[in-house]
Amino acid sequence: MEGMTSPGQVWAHVGQPFQAAEFDVVVVGAGRMGAALALFLRRLAPHLSLLMVEEGGLPNEEGATILAPGLWTTLDLPRQAQWSQQDQWSEQAQWTREQLASAFGEMPFEPCPLIELYASPLPGHDHSPQGGQPSAAVPYESSAELAREFPVLRELANLDALPLARVDRQAALYRPASVALNAAQQAVRLGANLLLNTRARLKHAPGPQVMLERLTVTNTHQIVTHEVKVVRARHIVVAAGAGGPPLLEHGLGVHTQHGRAYQQYPRLNLPSPPGTPAVRVSGLTLRPQHGAFTLIPRLHHRDPHGYQPTGGHLTGVPTGLRREVLEDLVNLMDALPALAGPHLQVGRSLSDLPGAWVTLVRGDPQAPPVWETPAPGHHLLLGGPHADTLGLAVAHDLAQHLSQPLAPMP
Ligand code: ADP
Repeated sequence: MEGMTSPGQVWAHVGQPFQAAEFDVVVVGAGRMGAALALFLRRLAPHLSLLMVEEGGLPNEEGATILAPGLWTTLDLPRQAQWSQQDQWSEQAQWTREQLASAFGEMPFEPCPLIELYASPLPGHDHSPQGGQPSAAVPYESSAELAREFPVLRELANLDALPLARVDRQAALYRPASVALNAAQQAVRLGANLLLNTRARLKHAPGPQVMLERLTVTNTHQIVTHEVKVVRARHIVVAAGAGGPPLLEHGLGVHTQHGRAYQQYPRLNLPSPPGTPAVRVSGLTLRPQHGAFTLIPRLHHRDPHGYQPTGGHLTGVPTGLRREVLEDLVNLMDALPALAGPHLQVGRSLSDLPGAWVTLVRGDPQAPPVWETPAPGHHLLLGGPHADTLGLAVAHDLAQHLSQPLAPMP
């Protein structure tokens, strides 16, 4: 089947005329969730015409995908759930892992143990058959023992204060932006169409429609709308990251419970030679990257409507770190003395630190990715903080749903 499909069209700039008026499926957003959905749909339902619409390029420099940690680990699978649900997530995590390790071709997917360090056991987490949940039952080890295998633990952490450890030896690192790019390219090769530099808005109409604003840059570097097109679809998938719920709200008046949070990724300039594990203390993850560490702070809560990220002060000096992150880092300096030295890059203002809006399913940083159908013909696909481990499986699930025989065009 695949060999018979011819590649789709790509419109990269407004000089290329766009005339189409109708598709079976329009996907808004070509981050990793939208791009993966498009690819899976081409494989499962090649008879459905498909248009991906992306506001930026591939990948968008401002999307969550480009900064996402790319850390696959089952230690992060939500724990509070029922056992049956837990098993389903374990399966989806394994499925995502297989896809990442094989189907995305030349892309690097490197095994890298994740070590969580603890001062004392987590409450209610005694991994006896009666206590806790079975798949979260990762045994505790001695961090001093582990430090023999991974000496870097001693360089980063005060192991006397953190005598316990849990390890995910299956964990792995990859680049979500490569997944998004690779998936979008494969989807196009299999017949998906792709409209870049175009902002989509949803439209009240009898039947799903999108308004497409094709953007261009003036010679004074302003982004302006060059033209507006309207396209009808049987199904619209909103895969616009943290921008998804507002799109539904503004366009259709559909309110969702989802939220977003501004996530920052400061750097710690200590060497991380090959073989360095990822290390986590109190929800702060140190991810080996480009020979040093990228810090992935804990997400506390959804940011209130209208929140504008601003940097906080550290001993009177302005930094680029938002308050919650700053407080967490200061509280961790005894356990992780490496944070207290000159190696931590805190910047002077927000723009000095890489950061992006991350979508939070139901406003909950622990919630796994999800898809739902908030209005007829309109589907919302949300990745969020656990997209690294579960995202591809959830995108595939929606693709399977959409590949069932579709109702006639309204
Ligand atoms: P995810 O992890 O869910 O894929 P991202 O934020 O990485 O989230 O990706 C969402 C993508 O959707 C981004 O590339 C962004 O540019 C794009 N996007 C957001 N809003 C719109 C919109 N209104 N029209 C087109 N693309 C959009």
